Amino acid sequence: MGELIIAKTVKEVRDQVSAWRKEGLTVGLVPTMGYLHEGHASLVDKAVSMCDRVVASDFVNPTQFGPGEDLESYPRDFEHDCALLKEHGCNMVFYPSVDEMYPDGNGKTDTYVEILDDMPKQLCGKTRPIHFRGVCTVVSKLFNIVLPDKAFFGQKDAQQLAIIKRMVRDLSYGIEIVGCPIVREADGLAKSSRNTYLNDAERQAALCLSRAVFAGMDMVKAGEKNADTVVGMMKDIIEKEPLAKIDYVSSVDAVTMADVHEIKAPVLFAMAVYIGKTRLIDNFITE
Ligand code: AMP
Repeated sequence: MGELIIAKTVKEVRDQVSAWRKEGLTVGLVPTMGYLHEGHASLVDKAVSMCDRVVASDFVNPTQFGPGEDLESYPRDFEHDCALLKEHGCNMVFYPSVDEMYPDGNGKTDTYVEILDDMPKQLCGKTRPIHFRGVCTVVSKLFNIVLPDKAFFGQKDAQQLAIIKRMVRDLSYGIEIVGCPIVREADGLAKSSRNTYLNDAERQAALCLSRAVFAGMDMVKAGEKNADTVVGMMKDIIEKEPLAKIDYVSSVDAVTMADVHEIKAPVLFAMAVYIGKTRLIDNFITE
C-alpha cells in the first residue's frame, strides 16, 4: 500500500501535481463528497488503472445544496475515507475547508459556472433548481486546482455525468471524462452515502428503486419501444411500496436530457424517490 498524501490547501495540491507533471506522470481526479463506499472505490480503481497518479477530493460542497436540504447532516468520516482511498491506491486526497474553496466565507461565491439551457432543469433540477450550478462550479474549481488529464464520475448520478461532459465541451477543458457503472449492494440497492439515513424498514423499502430499474431493463430488452410504457410500469412498482414517494420517474435522451417518448437513441430512465425523508436516485441507460 502506497502513501496517501493529505492536502488541505489549494497550494499543496498544485505543488504536488506540478512535481508529478515534471516527472512526466499523468493525473486522474475523482471528485467526491466523502463518506466513501465501494461505488467511490470503483472510481478510484478505474482512475488507478488509467492514470499514473490519482487525486480524490473529499468535500461536501455547500453551493450544490438548496435551503432545507441535508448539508449540515450529510454524513462524514474522514478517517474511514482515508483508509479506503489508501487501500485502493489513491495517491492524494484533497480535503479543503469551506473557506479554502470559497474565500468569500460561508460557502458563498459570486462566480458560478452554469449551463443555461434546459439540461440542468430536467430530472433532479426540477426539485433542486440550484444543484447543478453548484456542481458545475465546484467541479470547475477542482479541474482548475488539480489540472487532471482525466476525471472519473459515476453513472449513478447520470444527469451530473451528462452535465459535466457538456460543461467540459462548452468550456474547452482538455480533460477526458470517464463514466463508471453503478455499484450496488448484493440485494440491488445502489450504493450511496445517503443510504446511512435509512432505518431497517426503510432500507427494505428502498429496494423498490432497483426493482423498478431491473424491471425496466428487462422490458426494454424484451423489445418495448415506448418509453412511457416503461416509465408507467416502473412507477407502478414504486407506488406499491407504502414508504416510497416518487419525486420523478422519467425517460430522457441520455446526452441532452430532453424528454423522450420513443426508444431510438440511448434513453436514460431515471428516478428520484423519497423513502421516508431520504431522497434516493437510481437509473439505467438503454444501448
Ligand atoms: P458523491 O460523493 O455522492 O458526490 O459521489 C462522488 C462520485 O461517486 C460521483 O461521481 C458519483 O456518481 C459516484 N458514485 C456514488 N455512488 C456510486 C455508485 N453506487 N456507483 C458508482 N459510482 C458512484
